[in-house]
Amino acid sequence: MDRTDRSKQEPVEVICPKCRYIEIIYLPVDDLPCCPLCNTQMSISELLDEGKSY
Ligand SMILES: [Zn+2]
Repeated sequence: MDRTDRSKQEPVEVICPKCRYIEIIYLPVDDLPCCPLCNTQMSISELLDEGKSY
């Protein structure tokens, strides 16, 4: 019916700046997760775009 899909989550890759642990999370998130290995707050590594080519 309506193609506006606001519930669609956007995957992003986050990386731990300390030990380089990588995890995929889905936006929107309130806070970036902490690394499960060293408990450092992770930062966004790259946006994973699922074939939306504009
Ligand atoms: Zn870490």
